[in-house]
Amino acid sequence: MYLVKTPWLLKKLYPELVWNIDQNNRCIYLTFDDGPIPIVTPFVLNILKEYNAKATFFCIGDNVRKHPDVFEQVKADGHAIGNHTYNHLKGWKTNDKTYLENFLEADKLMNSKLFRPPYGRIKRSQIKLLKQAKPGLQFIMWDVLSGDFDQELSPEKCLENVMSGVRNKSSIVLFHDSLKAFDRMKYALPKAMETWSKAGYKFKSLDSF
Ligand SMILES: [Zn+2]
Repeated sequence: MYLVKTPWLLKKLYPELVWNIDQNNRCIYLTFDDGPIPIVTPFVLNILKEYNAKATFFCIGDNVRKHPDVFEQVKADGHAIGNHTYNHLKGWKTNDKTYLENFLEADKLMNSKLFRPPYGRIKRSQIKLLKQAKPGLQFIMWDVLSGDFDQELSPEKCLENVMSGVRNKSSIVLFHDSLKAFDRMKYALPKAMETWSKAGYKFKSLDSF
């Protein structure tokens, strides 16, 4: 069970996390989690290029190690990089020391001030530890969840999720550059970007918020 639109209560409970960005101009912060991997990540890069769009990639350290060439391409295209741990750990089920070490191992590869906890699950004690280890670290959550990871979801419904989630203001939208999400993402992303682009939205990376 997951919600497309992040409930306001969750935002109130975790004010130290970034859920959305208030800006008056129409701006979309596209984010892609769980890459970089061959085929899927380059697919995303091509679409972004078509719209002269910048986005943010929350990378898994182990994928950066396995696919350094894809990682370099993401950076060369001018997108922002965020840390998504080395092994995609679930914070609530991981002890603090292991979580911190896993974060730091990924940090060695990507040295980013942006972090997104896998599954959006992180303990307060872990937030504190990571902030101590890396001052200025921003915890980036999201405003709109595409649900592209959900294999029960049709590509059309995935598109509907993102289109109904973004409303006339700045939003952080979450997609995945993963094999599991590819069927839905490759359908929804180009169509959504075409519509938003026509409506005058700009696509920015989280380096610039
Ligand atoms: Zn993830």
